[in-house]
Amino acid sequence: PYDVLIVGGGPAGAAAAIYTARKGVRTGIVAERFGGQVMDTLGIENFISVKETEGPKLVAALEEHVKSYDIDVMNVQRAAALIPGELMEIRLTSGAVLKSKTVIVATGARWRELNVPGEKEYRGKGVAYCPHCDGPLFKGKRVAVVGGGNSGVEAAIDLAGIVGHVTLLEFADKLRADAVLQKKLASLPNVTILTNAQTMDITGDGQRVNGMEYIDRTSGVRHRLELEGVFIQIGLVPNTDWLKGTVELSKYGEIEVDARGQTSIPGVFAAGDVTTVPYKQIITAMGDGAKAALGTFDHLIRH
Ligand code: FAD
Repeated sequence: PYDVLIVGGGPAGAAAAIYTARKGVRTGIVAERFGGQVMDTLGIENFISVKETEGPKLVAALEEHVKSYDIDVMNVQRAAALIPGELMEIRLTSGAVLKSKTVIVATGARWRELNVPGEKEYRGKGVAYCPHCDGPLFKGKRVAVVGGGNSGVEAAIDLAGIVGHVTLLEFADKLRADAVLQKKLASLPNVTILTNAQTMDITGDGQRVNGMEYIDRTSGVRHRLELEGVFIQIGLVPNTDWLKGTVELSKYGEIEVDARGQTSIPGVFAAGDVTTVPYKQIITAMGDGAKAALGTFDHLIRH
């Protein structure tokens, strides 16, 4: 059996693996796709100490770092279930079963997509999901934020301080964000709020986004907005379906963790976007991966 089995090969899982391997304990990583969301990222400008890089480049560096240690990397393998016990079991969809004294869950999350024409085509070319990551790329430009919940309204407030103009589109007849956020948003001079607005498509010139279209659900009229960017903020879904009924999850499906990354099951730790820790970023995922690894090591030396 492993001492530490990490499920997930994004920044959190990779950082955790390096930290446990450096403690000399037997470490394995199971990942559906090594690199995780970073593989889908074009420009990265907020990975501190690296001024500018690209997702696949950062993933190659992560992989090189992981492979320089004695870590079993089981890529293209999906975990289907966790069975807690004296020895934890991870069942893979292939039918194989892996055993380990401890488990670190780092299965990340995915942005909910709108599923409208143009969204996939212009991803990273004007279609964005993370205002902290991509906001500064739209300095002085016109952008839309789709989604009127807390994350959409927070994004619109954040972006309004950087870009030229923000249009916020909400499908329902009113915003769902906290009142204090709605009040702040309404006070900003360069923001337009559209409710009852159904996003129909995102358009571009083949290279970059140049606009979007929505239907006003009260009149049925289709409108066009000329703009350079669209931030989609309709939810971040943690990859925890396979954990239902085991570790405690928040109402959003995130794994509840303490400051050491410990979950509700002793010996099961978690880190990164899959947890309740706020502000999901590469650098925070790595930091939390390191913390969960040290928490796991602490657990091992006491058992
Ligand atoms: P993830 O990166 O999501 O990795 C999860 C890992 O778990 C993957 O290996 C996945 O294959 C695996 N996995 C999932 N389910 C299973 C399963 N059942 N069995 C086995 N393996 C499984 N952050 C920044 O800091 N700067 C940026 O510029 C930036 N830009 C972004 C751009 C885009 C388009 C996206 C989508 C995200 C961006 N982010 C950015 C956010 C950042 O990528 C995430 O916060 C970070 O990758 C989270 O790391 P993680 O290790 O927790 O999870």
